[in-house]
Amino acid sequence: MAPFTNGAVPRSAKMHSKVVIIGSGPAGHTAAVYLARANLSPVLFEGFMANGFAAGGQLTTTTDVENYPGFPAGIMGPELMEKFREQSIRFGTQVITETVSKIDLSARPFRYWREGQEEDEPETTDTIIIATGASAKRLGLKGEDMYWQSGISACAVCDGAVPIFRNKPLAVIGGGDSAAEEATYLTKYGAHVYVLVRRGELRASKIMAKRLMNNPKITILWNTVATECQGDGDLLNNLRIKNVVTGEQKDLPVNGLFYAIGHEPATALVRSQLHTDDDGYIVTVPGTTQTSVKGVFAAGDVQDKRYRQAITSAGSGCMAALEVERLIAEEEEGIEED
Ligand code: FAD
Ligand code: NAP
Repeated sequence: MAPFTNGAVPRSAKMHSKVVIIGSGPAGHTAAVYLARANLSPVLFEGFMANGFAAGGQLTTTTDVENYPGFPAGIMGPELMEKFREQSIRFGTQVITETVSKIDLSARPFRYWREGQEEDEPETTDTIIIATGASAKRLGLKGEDMYWQSGISACAVCDGAVPIFRNKPLAVIGGGDSAAEEATYLTKYGAHVYVLVRRGELRASKIMAKRLMNNPKITILWNTVATECQGDGDLLNNLRIKNVVTGEQKDLPVNGLFYAIGHEPATALVRSQLHTDDDGYIVTVPGTTQTSVKGVFAAGDVQDKRYRQAITSAGSGCMAALEVERLIAEEEEGIEED
């Protein structure tokens, strides 16, 4: 598919905007709806397989989304993202199906380049919202691709309630806070939850670790890694696991496997220009979406390692839009912010 735009956005190297949004998940589109309704003519780069995802982001890779408010019967992930996109366009957002590959945040207006046009004159913008999202780390186990989303998931809160996991033995891989939280959550649905920890100790905070270890429906398998995902061709039903201390290998019959080994925020574009934390997430001023550079805002999973939900991403997209609107208004009125 060739890149296209929904409107009359030229591939001009000289386009200047008041606000550019990079990213097309719930955060980017929510920001776009608010900014378009505020007559700020936002330009949204939705990406062309950016970060390995189709335009629309992570939800384009899933089936039923059952926890996004307003859809009591649930909605398919791709359909939900198509609705987000329609709503952005309805209010006048210019959606461009290209990836932003280079950015210069050293001075305002900020300069940026589309993929394949890095040697051309840059386009410019007064403000930017970074909403490029994140992706869950995977292990690349034998059988993983075959059973991905057919028993294997990286989001217990998203997928834990689906029927294939009900009253079935489940496994979580990881020893951090996410693993503790996800395993505890899964005990509501699964018959029993095994947590595979590759070392002899947890990385999780004390309180989360205690909760995990005291739960009678959870068994921690220490010094244990998974080596293969097996199933009946349709759904996962077994894991091959290995004790890394003794070398012993055995079967662990489970119908669900949840990865909780961390996420990778899509911050390669800005990592050297904005404050990021040790894991690469953009750091924002608490309670806001303001980054370390005035005029640059970050929303969604790219700045949130804790909640990582569509609704929280949409919420922070709304915050970013309101903050952009306020900054532009103050600057137009000549009010200097600190
Ligand atoms: P993302 O959804 O990560 O999208 C950002 C997108 O921006 C990218 O994917 C890409 O298309 C684009 N992009 C990236 N870089 C660039 C660039 N340089 N230029 C242009 N475009 C770019 N959450 C729920 O609340 N409920 C669920 O049921 C649920 N199910 C999930 C199931 C799966 C399989 C996964 C992976 C996640 C699920 N989530 C769910 C989590 C949810 O999808 C994320 O929290 C949410 O999508 C994050 O939104 P975001 O706006 O930060 O960006
Ligand atoms: P994390 O803290 O980085 O933990 C990742 C876990 O996965 C670690 O136990 C790690 O093992 C394990 N792991 C990594 N790669 C692995 C591999 N290849 N094979 C097997 N195991 C592997 O990530 P997280 O748990 O997602 O947490 C991220 C951040 O969010 C943390 O700061 C956390 O505190 C925060 N968070 C907070 C809450 C909360 O407070 N409610 C909830 C979720 C997340 P090692 O320990 O051996 O490296």
